[in-house]
Amino acid sequence: MLTRRLFVTAGACAFASSSLAQVVATLGSGDGTLTVLSDGSFELPLSMLARDVAPAELAAEAKQNGPMRSVLNVTCLRRGKDVILFDCGSGANFLAGSGKLGESLKAAGIEPDAVTHVLFTHLHPDHFWGALDEFDSPAFVNARWLAAAPEIAFWSDPKVYERLPGDRHAFAAGAQRIARELGERLERLEPGREWLAGIEAVATPGHTPGHVSFSVQAAEGPVMVLGDALTHPQVSFARPEWRPASDHDADLAVATRRRLLDRLSQDRAQVIGYHLPGAVGRVERQGAAYRFVAAS
Ligand SMILES: [Zn+2]
Repeated sequence: MLTRRLFVTAGACAFASSSLAQVVATLGSGDGTLTVLSDGSFELPLSMLARDVAPAELAAEAKQNGPMRSVLNVTCLRRGKDVILFDCGSGANFLAGSGKLGESLKAAGIEPDAVTHVLFTHLHPDHFWGALDEFDSPAFVNARWLAAAPEIAFWSDPKVYERLPGDRHAFAAGAQRIARELGERLERLEPGREWLAGIEAVATPGHTPGHVSFSVQAAEGPVMVLGDALTHPQVSFARPEWRPASDHDADLAVATRRRLLDRLSQDRAQVIGYHLPGAVGRVERQGAAYRFVAAS
């Protein structure tokens, strides 16, 4: 309940419960298929998009006035015997409207016991809290759990509370509790390396100190699983210099976004955004900035 209070404090409006479990998108077919599964959605105040921009300008750029509905997209790669999840949703204890991954896995015909790996972009609640089931046991009993060493170090440090605003303390308490329950099963890996064959963890810090995105050599060609390096389909691309309230180190997140957008627009790689509607698309340069071109 702490976390729900947090979002009410942050100005979030209603918690709609209409989000349906679903398969959001599929890339490729056969071995190496990427499936994007919904963990639901929640509403955030528009002001979350930038900490120092006038509301009218914000609304114009975001192309909406009221609170925004942020979708949650969990990516699943199936290749050979591997069933690899990138993040695992928010579980039952975060916000109403989220925690739908279990139903979406069922809709996609994926048994929880079949999941072999869970790779984390970062340890925020909407990405990490789904690691435990309602009995506080690992939700995927046969999985290896892989996260970036600096990300685990940040959240596990008893002094993390001094580095976070009060309304984020519940994030730290949740991350510590889940890391404790996973124990030795939570493996610490370095960013900038291949964590599994054909899957490189690209350092994209700023949103959180140890945030990574995953460059995946999929059957369809290279795909970048972004995590929260780019979170809004207009603002993150057209205004990479804006400083969302959700970024821990706002200036570092801006630098990361610029570097990532430059790389992605040159590579023409497909991207999958955890919070981007429809999840899948490409990045195109547009004047001095960029735009997200959704796949469908
Ligand atoms: Zn997120």
